Amino acid sequence: MKTILTGIRANSVLTLGNFLGAMLPMVRLSNKYSKEGYSVNIFVPDLHSIISEVDGNLRENTIRTLKYYLAAGLEINENVHIYRQSYVPAHSELCWILNCTATMGEMNRMTQYKEKSEGKSSCNVGIFDYPVLMAADILLYSANYVPLGEDQFQHIELTRNIAERFNHKYGEVFVIPEATAEQVKFMGVEKAIRIRDLIDPEKKMSKSTAAENSKIMLDDEPAKVAKKIMGATTDSFEQIKFDFATRPGISNLLYMAALMKGISLSDFVKDWEGQSRYGDLKKAVAEVISTRLADFQARMAKISDEEVLALFEEGEKYANKIANAKLLEVQKAVGLR
Ligand code: ATP
Ligand code: MG
Repeated sequence: MKTILTGIRANSVLTLGNFLGAMLPMVRLSNKYSKEGYSVNIFVPDLHSIISEVDGNLRENTIRTLKYYLAAGLEINENVHIYRQSYVPAHSELCWILNCTATMGEMNRMTQYKEKSEGKSSCNVGIFDYPVLMAADILLYSANYVPLGEDQFQHIELTRNIAERFNHKYGEVFVIPEATAEQVKFMGVEKAIRIRDLIDPEKKMSKSTAAENSKIMLDDEPAKVAKKIMGATTDSFEQIKFDFATRPGISNLLYMAALMKGISLSDFVKDWEGQSRYGDLKKAVAEVISTRLADFQARMAKISDEEVLALFEEGEKYANKIANAKLLEVQKAVGLR
């Protein structure tokens, strides 16, 4: 049985970029493959959250993150396992053991570390070491597929290198996750989805961008969504065309609306291409996004904390069983047991 594994940090409210780029694709994969006998692990990496600032209360953010998945249509069955990372102590334990296999050289090459520590006179060790914790998250469950945004692909390659080196030294303990090219194929996309910043459409939409109007948050009210869309940067061509290279702003609006509507891009674009009514297009996009987002928020509101906690507790029993068995194998291989 193959295993798919994914997690999204719970530091704050998520953006529409996180939702369309990472959450919806995972929900689609889970709903399909869990019915075909794959094991699907969706966990909230709360230990990864504390490497940077947390907005609000981490425990509450963790519960909200799972509500996002459920409101986005995640179906629960016996193959879908949901858990909080810190409730499975084997993650931290294996991280230490893998720290003794990972090298300073390979860790220093991690782009995310370089970006997140750039210009800072001091940064915490967690920012440097979290890719090893990520390797533990993946290897404990023998995960084959790890659907993630492109920014995380380097960490999958690192996981493969650490696991291969460990297996070479101590014996065949770990299943090696698929290479990144296979991961992309598995996700069923040509290219990873990248939603743009509303003000500067050359950049990607990020929750950490300071400007409020640059991003749509999943808890924005319809009027706020409409205001942000109406104010989005477009271009001066006066002709609607889908082309990220020359018209990133308009293309981003078309792309978000099609993804939100769940229809193909060409179906959405054909009603608008060639026209000059930018204002009308913005109104239509604002309508689609705010209506769908309001539906999503209404579904969120119906999910109780108790329901989420029950899913976590059930999943954590399963996760501890699988993770502890793999950890024991590792401990025996290394000579700790
Ligand atoms: P931060 O600014 O704190 O890095 P972020 O918005 O980039 O926040 P992450 O927590 O880094 O969010 O990423 C969560 C997931 O969302 C990852 O799988 C990432 O690839 C995906 N993601 C983030 N931004 C976008 C975007 N604009 N379009 C598509 N996917 C995205
Ligand atoms: Mg990011």
